[in-house]
Amino acid sequence: MSTRNYNFSAGPATLPLSVLEKIQSEMLSLPGVGASVIEISHRSGPFLEIAGAAEANLRKLMQIPDDYAVLFLQGGSRLQFSMVPMNLLTDEKKSADYIITGSWGKNASQEAVKEGGVRKAWDGSDTSYTRLPAASELDLDSNAAFVHITSNETIQGVQFAAEPEVGDVPLVCDASSDVMHKPVDIKKYGLIYACAQKNAGPAGLTVVIMRKDLLERSKDSLPGYLNYKTHADADSMWNTPATFGIYVLKLVTDWLIDEIGGLEKMHEQNKLKAAMLYEVLDAYPEFYQGHAAVDCRSLMNVTFRLPSDELSAEFISAAKAQQLTDLKGHRSVGGIRASIYNAMPVAGVETLRDFMKDFASKKA
Ligand code: PMP
Repeated sequence: MSTRNYNFSAGPATLPLSVLEKIQSEMLSLPGVGASVIEISHRSGPFLEIAGAAEANLRKLMQIPDDYAVLFLQGGSRLQFSMVPMNLLTDEKKSADYIITGSWGKNASQEAVKEGGVRKAWDGSDTSYTRLPAASELDLDSNAAFVHITSNETIQGVQFAAEPEVGDVPLVCDASSDVMHKPVDIKKYGLIYACAQKNAGPAGLTVVIMRKDLLERSKDSLPGYLNYKTHADADSMWNTPATFGIYVLKLVTDWLIDEIGGLEKMHEQNKLKAAMLYEVLDAYPEFYQGHAAVDCRSLMNVTFRLPSDELSAEFISAAKAQQLTDLKGHRSVGGIRASIYNAMPVAGVETLRDFMKDFASKKA
C-alpha cells in the first residue's frame, strides 16, 4: 500500500504530488541560495523573484488585466469577510448586497454587519442552501457599495456556473474553494479573494485580486494591515508576508501551467471528475441522497447523505480501509463530502467511484 492516501479533505486539502516533491527537494536549500525558502528575508533578491513569479503565473493563468492589483495577505478568508466591507463601504455607499447561498456567505454577511449596512439580496437558508437563486429572485440595490457572492459553497456543495448579473455595482467574490478551477472573466469582478488552502497552496496565504480604482475607497484612518492600499502600495511587502505560502503558490501555478496546461484543461478534468461521482448518486438516488439541486452541483465539493447515520459511519470507515480519507461531511450538513479540488488526481476519484458503487450494491 502507498503511504499516501487519497485525501478528500475540504481544506487544507491535497496538493499535487510533484509540488510536494519539489518542496521536499528544495526544503534544505533553494538552488543557488544555500538556505531554505523559510529562512531567507522576504526582501531578499531570491524571495522577491519567487513572489514576482507567483504573481506573474497568476496573471497569466487567470488573465488578470493590468488595472487589477494582486495582493498576498494573511488572516484567511475570514479576515476578508471584514476587510471587504471596511474598505469598500463609503460615506455615499453605506450598504452592500449579499447573495447568501450557504454557510460561508452567511458568515461573511454576519461579519459585514459589524462594519456597516448589509442587505440580503437573496438568502437560501429556507431550503437549507440546496440551490442558487434565479436572476428574477435577486433583490439588488443599484446604489449598493458592492454585491458579495460565494462562488462555491464548500460546506453545502453548491456552485455558481456563471456569475449573477449585477449591473454596474462591483461584484465581490469569495472564491476560496474554487479559485483557478476554470477560466473566469476577471473583468466581471471588482474583487476576488481566496484563502490558499484548498486550490492554491497551504493555509496562511490569502490572495486578493481587485480593480485598482476600488483602492481609492480605503480610508486612511483604517489600521495599516486592514487597508488594501497599504498592501498595494508596498507590493504585499508592508509586513512579512506568508513567504512559504507564496513559494508553494508559485509551485502550484507552475504545475497548472506546465503539467495541466492551463485552466481550460483544468476545467475539463474537473468536470470529468465531478461527473464520475454524480453519476453514482444518480444511479442510486435512494441510497446516495445528494444535497445540492442537480443544476447547482459543485465541481469541487460533492455532498450527499446515506439513509442513516450508521451507514454514513460505516461508509467512512470502509473507505478509510481503502485509503480514501477525510470524507465526513461538515457537522452542519452531515453525511459525506468528497472534496475533489484541482489537485485530486483522476485516479483518486475513480477509486472513490468504484468504492461507492461497490458499497451501494452491497448495502442498498
Ligand atoms: N470561505 C469559504 C468558501 C471557505 O471554504 C472557507 C474555509 N473553509 C472560508 C471562507 C474561511 O477561510 P479561512 O479559514 O481561511 O478563514
